[in-house]
Amino acid sequence: MSDTDVKPSTATFDQFGLAPEILKAIDEQGYTTPTPIQAQAIPVVLTGRDVMGAAQTGTGKTASFSLPILQRLLPNASTSASPARHPVRALILTPTRELADQVAANVRSYATHTPLRSAVVFGGVDMNPQSDELRRGVEILIATPGRLLDHVQQKTTNLGQVQMLVLDEADRMLDMGFLPDLQRILNLLPKERQTLLFSATFSPEIKKLAATYLRTPQTIEVARSNSTATNVTQVVYEVAEGDKTGAVVQLIRERGLKQVIVFCNSKIGASRLARSIEKQGIVAAAIHGDRSQNERMQALDAFKRGEIEALVATDVAARGLDIVELPAVINFDLPFNAEDYVHRIGRTGRAGASGDALSLCSPNEKKQLADIEKLIKRPLTVERLVVDAPAVHHESGSRGRHDRGERSERSAHGHRRTGSFDRPHHRAQAVDEFFLKPYEPSPSARNAADDTNVTNNTVTPQKPQSKQPLAALLGGLGASWRNKPSSSSSN
Ligand code: AMP
Repeated sequence: MSDTDVKPSTATFDQFGLAPEILKAIDEQGYTTPTPIQAQAIPVVLTGRDVMGAAQTGTGKTASFSLPILQRLLPNASTSASPARHPVRALILTPTRELADQVAANVRSYATHTPLRSAVVFGGVDMNPQSDELRRGVEILIATPGRLLDHVQQKTTNLGQVQMLVLDEADRMLDMGFLPDLQRILNLLPKERQTLLFSATFSPEIKKLAATYLRTPQTIEVARSNSTATNVTQVVYEVAEGDKTGAVVQLIRERGLKQVIVFCNSKIGASRLARSIEKQGIVAAAIHGDRSQNERMQALDAFKRGEIEALVATDVAARGLDIVELPAVINFDLPFNAEDYVHRIGRTGRAGASGDALSLCSPNEKKQLADIEKLIKRPLTVERLVVDAPAVHHESGSRGRHDRGERSERSAHGHRRTGSFDRPHHRAQAVDEFFLKPYEPSPSARNAADDTNVTNNTVTPQKPQSKQPLAALLGGLGASWRNKPSSSSSN
């Protein structure tokens, strides 16, 4: 509701008037204090009013809409086995399968002491088990747009009794070309309903969507525009394009990173990088749109269990991943869209932990860097990184060979602090031609990430492209609520 820095939340969950069975689940989750978005959104959603919420994944936004939805559905909750007593009353739409899965897991745990049923449907997996679950009846349905329309078409679900709709990460849904699907779905819903739209950005497209489908929404913001999480240390390393793979290996080893997401701009780049760093002894897996849903889930689970050290991901695949206390993310490529930078670094420094966002920037990525700095409204620390030959295998914890130039100003990790790319000094390396492709700042370039198909070495767009202007990014969070106490101190 304000455009200023986040103030620590002084609210408590007790004061919202939530039912004891919901409060019990909150307690079991170990949440003691509502996050700022929860403190602001829960009372408004409980009144039945539409909401336009500016919040990213990582701010606690899922509970900010799920908890009041459960509360509002409780009067209609039924213990009857009859499907007719369990119509879909709340629909939550998300852009990606992973986010749908995570939201569904949260909803399930918050609803655990209520008779309310929930289900999740997304593409890339067999429809039949989803159809069976839908036929039995669920009050809360979490879905990606395409698969939901498949179910509607097959008449396994009916949306005629939806009272509450959530558009989660609406900006990303538009980015991914889901607007026509969204419109189709919205036309199937009763006009009398509550609509909650959450988005990291309030771009003109989002505002248009809200103006069409929301009724006098209450706007809720938790941080000032274009903010990045304050507990994330951001460093940009100048590095030659051909040194980037070696740089990733070096950063992982030097910093002893046991769990890191490495972001690439393309599916082929992600696969290639995962293979290359595996050859150098780092346990890695790639997740991107060409991997099946099961492969992606398996990789994510292995990563969460600590069996994979480096998860190499494209933006779309990584969207919404909730991995608590991820110590670092590495941007192998700087994203074509500056807003993706904020989403990427939001994967670290979550839930009270501090994190490092390490970005590799080659000389031909200066424009992307400038766009990021413009968006977050501050310059980033740029250090120079000299990379050891990729073939050299260091012992764990060994340090890379750094330039010991006289004018160097060493940082904690021994890299030279500098602010310019004017004096190229990188060693000549064998360069993978794929990574030498010049950046072409065309409007469609940003979607080259997951929305591309690589056939016979040509990259062709697959999905509709959207021209998203550099929109105000609203979200992020101050640190105070994140200091999640150990579960024993839950109230
Ligand atoms: P979200 O933004 O919904 O993806 O939530 C990010 C993470 O914060 C998830 O791991 C949640 O379980 C956690 N979380 C949500 N609300 C709270 C809270 N009030 N206190 C502590 N952790 C929370």
